[in-house]
Amino acid sequence: MTPSVLPTYNRAPMAFDSGSGAWLTTTDGDRYLDLGAGIAVNALGHAHPALVQALTEQASKLWHTSNLYQIPHQQRLADLLVDNTFADTVFFTNSGTEAAELAIKMVRKYWYDKGQPERTQIIAFEGAFHGRSTGAIAMAGGEKMTKGFGPLMPGFVQLPFGDHDALRAAVGPQTAAIIIEPIQGEGGIRIVPDQCLKGLRDMCDTTGALLIFDEVQCGMGRTGRLFAHEWSGITPDIMMVAKGIGGGFPLGALLATENAASGMTAGTHGSTYGGNPLGCAVGCAVMDIIADDAFLAEVNRKSALFRQKLEGLVAAHPSVFAEVRGQGLMLGLKCVVPNTDVVKAGYAAFVLTVPGADNVIRLLPPLTLTDDDMAQAIARLNQAATTATPHAG
Ligand SMILES: *Cc1c(COP(=O)(O)O)cnc(C)c1O
Repeated sequence: MTPSVLPTYNRAPMAFDSGSGAWLTTTDGDRYLDLGAGIAVNALGHAHPALVQALTEQASKLWHTSNLYQIPHQQRLADLLVDNTFADTVFFTNSGTEAAELAIKMVRKYWYDKGQPERTQIIAFEGAFHGRSTGAIAMAGGEKMTKGFGPLMPGFVQLPFGDHDALRAAVGPQTAAIIIEPIQGEGGIRIVPDQCLKGLRDMCDTTGALLIFDEVQCGMGRTGRLFAHEWSGITPDIMMVAKGIGGGFPLGALLATENAASGMTAGTHGSTYGGNPLGCAVGCAVMDIIADDAFLAEVNRKSALFRQKLEGLVAAHPSVFAEVRGQGLMLGLKCVVPNTDVVKAGYAAFVLTVPGADNVIRLLPPLTLTDDDMAQAIARLNQAATTATPHAG
């Protein structure tokens, strides 16, 4: 019999009832250390007092008005994002996927208005993840996401990750945009080196193509800067944000320069819920905390310590782990045994991690992880690794 919830997920057999900081309690009363944070969503942990207050205060005043009217929290959140990034303008969505959809529309409209309506080709990279809509799967490509869902929306090319020759051959006057995650998340915590991001910026400057960064997973303080691309010193024309920006409330955004967004005039795009007062009240509270130098410095301090401890863990379990990769608190442990075995062994040790491609387990803890939490994380991962160690005979 078909389950009443469409079975598109393989769910672990536990349900959580409450959370606090980096900890979750199941309906059975078991406590788990959450190193997944709802896949980089609960950037400030569970039940952060400032977010609870922002949401409940707004909930008791006004839930929704539509975008037919001014929305003060939306305006303030847009100003905060513009003040803290390369962007001149912001459109709010409910998810990363919707930000990807708008990115595609914005690029197409840009070239249409420039008198080159045929210039629609967007280049993406193998291993990318930009969401699950028909547009987002066509853009990222990859058989796992696209098989059975054809015909796919045309206008996209996927290049191998890190293949500079293929890139040079592919980028030309027909290229409308290049989209890349500065650190691939679902793709298995694969970093794009700074000089490669700079190279992409140069190619876009030369050809006029727009550069899109998907910072849905790596943004919002995750790498120790507000956005991951800041480490490289260059900026995109368009950027997708979601996950951490709502701290658990569904919220996304598309940020753009004035030039890239020039075609998006009144009536060209919209959303019923995007920029809703509840979401933006929470988003402002999240930005007030994360877009702060002292907060980000603390993320950097903790992540350096965590990484050092994880290197020790890997060295202690060479038959389970091959390496640590990533940046800040967006870390991956490349596994030798199947990554899903390690995730399951983690459940038995009461620690939550997230599998990724390339046989990696992802560690995306709340950015508010304490030093005590970190010690618990290492102890529990060590226990999980001991269970997951293959035994001879
Ligand atoms: C999660 C994710 C998306 C999609 O976001 P949703 O909110 O699930 O629609 C897009 N890009 C990246 C890099 C992501 O990690």
